[in-house]
Amino acid sequence: MRLVERLLPFAVAALAIGAGYALSAGLDGYFVYLGMSAIVGRISLLGLGVVTGSAGMISLCQLTFGAVGAWVVSALNAAEAPGGFLVWLVLGGLAAGLVGVLVGLPALRLRGINLAVVTLGLAAAADLTLVQLQFPGVASGISVERPDAFSDDRSYFLLAVVVLVGCCLGVYFLRRGRWGSGWQAVAFSERGTAAAGASVRTSKLTAFAVSATLGGISGGLLTGQVGLAFPASFTAIQSLALYVLAIMSGAHLIDMAILGAVLWVGVPELLKRWGVPQDWGFVVFGLLGIQALTSGGNLGTAVRRLWYRRSGAPAKLELADATTTVEPVVPGPPVLVVRGLGVRFGEVTALSSVDIEVPEHGVLGVIGPNGAGKSTLVDAISGFLADAEGSVELDGRPLTGSPSKRARAGLRRTFQQDRVPPGLRVEAYLRFVARRRLSAAEIAGALDFFGCPDARTPLSEVDVGARRLVEVVGHLLARPRVLLLDEPAAGLPHSEHVAFGERLRQVPARFGVSVLLIEHDLDLVRSVCDTITVLDFGRVLASGPQAEVLADPAVLKAYMGETELL
Ligand code: ADP
Ligand code: MG
Repeated sequence: MRLVERLLPFAVAALAIGAGYALSAGLDGYFVYLGMSAIVGRISLLGLGVVTGSAGMISLCQLTFGAVGAWVVSALNAAEAPGGFLVWLVLGGLAAGLVGVLVGLPALRLRGINLAVVTLGLAAAADLTLVQLQFPGVASGISVERPDAFSDDRSYFLLAVVVLVGCCLGVYFLRRGRWGSGWQAVAFSERGTAAAGASVRTSKLTAFAVSATLGGISGGLLTGQVGLAFPASFTAIQSLALYVLAIMSGAHLIDMAILGAVLWVGVPELLKRWGVPQDWGFVVFGLLGIQALTSGGNLGTAVRRLWYRRSGAPAKLELADATTTVEPVVPGPPVLVVRGLGVRFGEVTALSSVDIEVPEHGVLGVIGPNGAGKSTLVDAISGFLADAEGSVELDGRPLTGSPSKRARAGLRRTFQQDRVPPGLRVEAYLRFVARRRLSAAEIAGALDFFGCPDARTPLSEVDVGARRLVEVVGHLLARPRVLLLDEPAAGLPHSEHVAFGERLRQVPARFGVSVLLIEHDLDLVRSVCDTITVLDFGRVLASGPQAEVLADPAVLKAYMGETELL
């Protein structure tokens, strides 16, 4: 099974090249030429699929990257540089990738509409500059030479197919690797990405770089197709249209970007045949885009549903049947020590002089009414609130810096809200979060222990309660020193709480991880936690061994009417 799966992409690639060969021989010359244009568009769309589809960033300058590729190929051709077309094509792609990193820099700070404005502005500026400068060699009419073996249209078409297949394979493998998981993760939640110890910056920049490299290759290929590059092929409005096509065709689905490519070439071609001015093409693309954005779906996903079977019900937990139990170990001295933690949000004091100690191999329960500051506590300890007062020590060393730095130092956390990227499979997500080599057996064992769905299940098909436990499993597999859990049972039916509590109690012994557990269900807290800290209005109300704390009159008073208490 594994082997078949591993070979499948190569088999599909070989088939695609075979089909390309048949088409290059069998198609009418006119369609061969249109086919080349579609492939050029397709490679560019593949790039947009990475930056927009996978990583969730708006990029409206994809054809500017195309222009960079075209520029490099034209310049090297005019200079009669060594290596020939194919080498120039690669260099054009790399140069565009470099420009992509520069364009990606603003994306580290900007999101949504602001990033759209910046990238579109860049496309417009590049557009004007190109018209002024023109491409190298154009003025003297030096057209770009195709490689000898691919000089006629039919064989150049086949070359384009091979380049396209290579690009698709590249994207396929990148998406399955660490970069790809990072793209999906930042698209869904930057906080979730940082909490996994991953760099949001790296994810964004690699997405821009890969996307721009593909844009550059596409531009270089176009130059070989037409011989001379012109600014009219790389205008800002065309970049905008390409973006719309990427959205509506679902270009992040590697096989479906082809729909966008067909429209990219087909719409202008039909307009030409019917004698309608070309500008109407942008109106058509605009309407298609509005349709896709307002319906929230895209053509690619809809087409895919026709032939990919989907399991109907979301995958759930199966916690009920007990697994072998490991006896809890006796908690040791504190591994995480928090002193004098204070957080203010404007006028609201969310935390004030909070001291917390998580014992080694223990589970500390943190309870308190809604709004007591429990989630703020986790945010502050894990580095998400940069101006929090107080000190945090892990293993006797000060823990400072960004959330991803703290995660890498051995402090992990989960979130009260769902931060698990639905675009990944369970296994890819676990590997991404764990940040270390995991054997299939280790993954299966941990999933099984928590009753989570199989490693191959897409997270989009996992119900929210189970998804939050997959998050817990991922962070446990990272083997941190301490894991902070923010209401991990909140998405589970109450009937599952006891079984979940049993698992949680074994976590320190099984995974060697000490736990801080925020929880509303006092039965669960009672069954799991040796020590408890109670927060109320941002202050520690009581702290100590379970029996003492839960019998404290002040705690009873604070909790009166809050939960189904004691
Ligand atoms: P808990 O998790 O115990 O329910 P929180 O830590 O979420 O409580 O919130 C503690 C207090 O801080 C609440 O009064 C809440 O309204 C406030 N608070 C939390 N986050 C913010 C924020 N980003 N901006 C302003 N106030 C906040
Ligand atoms: Mg909370």
